[in-house]
Amino acid sequence: MKKSMLIDNSKCIGCRACQAACKQWNQLPAEKTEFTGTYENPPRFSPITWTKIAFREYEQNGKLSWTFTKLGCVHCTDAACIKVCPANAISHTEYGTVVIDEKRCIGCNYCAANCTFNVIGFDQAANVARKCTFCYDRIAAGMIPACAKTCPTGAITYGDRSEIMALAERRLAEVKKNGHPNADIYGVEELDGLAMMYLLKDGKENAEVKYGLPEKPRIRTAAHIWDLVFKPVRAAVVLAMVFALWINKSESAKEKTS
Ligand code: SF4
Ligand code: SF4
Ligand code: SF4
Repeated sequence: MKKSMLIDNSKCIGCRACQAACKQWNQLPAEKTEFTGTYENPPRFSPITWTKIAFREYEQNGKLSWTFTKLGCVHCTDAACIKVCPANAISHTEYGTVVIDEKRCIGCNYCAANCTFNVIGFDQAANVARKCTFCYDRIAAGMIPACAKTCPTGAITYGDRSEIMALAERRLAEVKKNGHPNADIYGVEELDGLAMMYLLKDGKENAEVKYGLPEKPRIRTAAHIWDLVFKPVRAAVVLAMVFALWINKSESAKEKTS
């Protein structure tokens, strides 16, 4: 059964309880951050920050408008990270979500470089890529993801994909009626569907500026070529990459001791 979440940014108050719950459940430590003049903090994803709240101010119909939007891996159906991983370490789960198998990850960082949403963090010490798991462990145990469980305003709703699609349609009609005629749903057509869907109160136009989401997400041509040309010879590519990484590490170790 495919699962989804609806992130309704007309309800988000930017409290960041979801951000803290994600860290707590996944035992991710806090990051040292600096105030850079914006509420959005930390500024980027990392191996220990899998979700964060984008804060955006913009002009809409001649008025200043602002939004909080929960960002992170959106669990694409057509996922660039799966296409480019030479070690077959990233895959779709039975719920339609996307996970990284750390035991298979060879630390080439190619998924992070190609992710359409730029949400993968790379743990240099462990040499693995990390990102939101859609709380695979929780949903497999019949629980709801930690971020959805924590949100105090109902801005994150989790459920079967069909229920979430129906909820998104209902909310869209309500939000349009309540003064946001351009509101839209993001995650139905995008990359053949995203498990993290969004209700965007001011529409998809200029989505990057308004919410920190790409307006028309697409997979880079290089990733398609990599998938088509190199997938058939994946085993040889993996061996070559492991060898190259081993050489790099040995050379760095030699440089440190000399
Ligand atoms: S958002 Fe990035 S990491 Fe998540 S499934 Fe899509 S391509 Fe992969
Ligand atoms: S689904 Fe789980 S791992 Fe993903 S952002 Fe929410 S709490 Fe974090
Ligand atoms: S917990 Fe809910 S209201 Fe608070 S920042 Fe996250 S999505 Fe927004």
